[in-house]
Amino acid sequence: MSKCWLCEYNQEPEAVKLSQFLSDNAAFMGTHQIVRIIHARLKEIDPHGAGHSESDIEEHIKSHVLIPQVKVTVMLRSLIMLMDKLESGLMCTGEDDITIIDAKNVGIYLKLVNEIMQIYKTGETNKLMFADGHISAPQETVGAKKKRLG
Ligand SMILES: [Zn+2]
Repeated sequence: MSKCWLCEYNQEPEAVKLSQFLSDNAAFMGTHQIVRIIHARLKEIDPHGAGHSESDIEEHIKSHVLIPQVKVTVMLRSLIMLMDKLESGLMCTGEDDITIIDAKNVGIYLKLVNEIMQIYKTGETNKLMFADGHISAPQETVGAKKKRLG
């Protein structure tokens, strides 16, 4: 079976629960943190199953899921990452300590800022905000974590 576990069993109650967990938390938790939690749960419920390694789950989140909350957050994260990278190269110091601004990259940067603002305007902003800090892990996973930590 080469298929991803979460896609293969998407109608099963456990997969439905995990998909719900994913869409509820995509905006509040980093992808790696979500991947770790889902991976731990899948190892518990289907230890010999295939298609649920950490990289399978990451691939699922990045490429298979079309749930808007998840898709928008994944897009938003890569745009912000790109913006951060661009930001560091916008200015440099030339000869005689003159600050040189990279006009072409400033143009791209401003377009990116605009795109990001558009996403915030179209999205459910309360779901995209990190400020309220609401994080809820599935009950089983919390138990599993406690067991793992001893
Ligand atoms: Zn998948």
